[in-house]
Amino acid sequence: MVKVLCVLYDDPQRSTSTPTARSELPHLSRYPDGQTTPTPSKVDFVPGELLGSVSGKLGLAKFLEGHDFVVTSSKDGPDSVFEQHLPTADVVISQPFWPAYMSTERIAKAKNLKLCITAGIGSDHVDLEAAAKANITVAEVTYCNSISVAEHVVMLILNLVRNFVPSHEIATSGGWHIADCVSRAYDLEGMQVGTVGAGRIGLAVLRRLKPFDTKLHYFDQHRLSAAVEEELNLRYHNSVESLVRICDVVTINCPLHPKTEHLFNKELIASMKPGSYLINTARGKVCEAQAVKEACETGQLAGYAGDVWFPQPAPNDHPWRSMPNNAMTPHVSGTSLSAQARYAAGVREILECFLEGRPIREEYLIVQGGGLAGTGKHSYTEGNTTEGSDEAVHFDKDEALQEGPPVKMQKVVTGGC
Ligand code: NDP
Repeated sequence: MVKVLCVLYDDPQRSTSTPTARSELPHLSRYPDGQTTPTPSKVDFVPGELLGSVSGKLGLAKFLEGHDFVVTSSKDGPDSVFEQHLPTADVVISQPFWPAYMSTERIAKAKNLKLCITAGIGSDHVDLEAAAKANITVAEVTYCNSISVAEHVVMLILNLVRNFVPSHEIATSGGWHIADCVSRAYDLEGMQVGTVGAGRIGLAVLRRLKPFDTKLHYFDQHRLSAAVEEELNLRYHNSVESLVRICDVVTINCPLHPKTEHLFNKELIASMKPGSYLINTARGKVCEAQAVKEACETGQLAGYAGDVWFPQPAPNDHPWRSMPNNAMTPHVSGTSLSAQARYAAGVREILECFLEGRPIREEYLIVQGGGLAGTGKHSYTEGNTTEGSDEAVHFDKDEALQEGPPVKMQKVVTGGC
């Protein structure tokens, strides 16, 4: 018997929450690069069910019968259910949307821990250096929600450029103020759009944007093939500074690791084209929160959109909740019901390997055998990015359930494209 400690987000809270809208999902067996979708021996859920919240249990309840399977949303602070169970857990599972931060201190407490599974992509909530030292394997379900996020990025770019959120708010509040709607609305066509990171998500974003007749740019540690560059008419930049200088829209699609932490600081944002749009669905900590807020206030950024924050949940008074011209949501892009079905199956596949002593797929590995491994070796650098995550304890759930402050939208047109 093993002890599996699983942190999931809360079940739906609002009275308007409805059951799922569709009864089936399209069936996918491979991702765009040919990698197979998860291949567990079977699953005990119907794809399309809500699996990512506590009662969904990632569809693992039946499979883990006979083991000690603890599922909780209580994850932050010394009195959390998570901290109580951590010292005796063999396996920890959590989703980046509601991460169980595995800081240096927590890893030191987890004496039995052998495996940390990220139900999703992005294991930066784990101190990877400490995990390696403690010989803990860290694995994630590579590719499971990359396309989910790419779709979301395209939506957010259009959202900002076309000024969708304020126009929607005007309609829902009974108004018809067309000039207010359009005074910050543009066409995406012809704009220079660049991605920082052209891996699974970044490349999928570029492919989806090509039909919009935009001019596409990318910066990455490794260059894409000449055939892909030609197919998408891509311009490669050998530094992030070179890319942000000329792009009207910048989308961040690299992992959070010590080299990308606070990459978008005051200085880099000041060097961006004035009036550009910044979209971040990678990780909140890739940007400096205050620098983004100030740039939205001055108009240096025409808008900022994304779904990732630091820490998560973000404090109720986090500046990104109320800064001008933002199109922020809680961390949702990678946890659509479609994505949940894939990452729940992927978690089961990883658990089956662990319990049967079989190797976990190379592409799922981030840390193994005392160092970065598999995908982790390619995309991450050694180190720890969990510092400050204990601040997540300050989120007040009850306050969040009240109506939040309205998003302030500037009415004056500033900057241009
Ligand atoms: P990939 O590993 O396929 O792609 C990441 C890319 O970023 C790689 O091409 C990598 O380079 C590149 N990269 C790494 N470091 C740098 C750097 N310093 N500068 C520029 N590029 C860099 O991962 P995905 O595309 O699937 O996911 C990317 C990230 O998106 C995840 O790590 C996660 O943080 C986030 N994510 C967010 C989700 C959400 O719900 N909002 C869901 C899923 C992911 P190379 O490999 O060439 O070295």
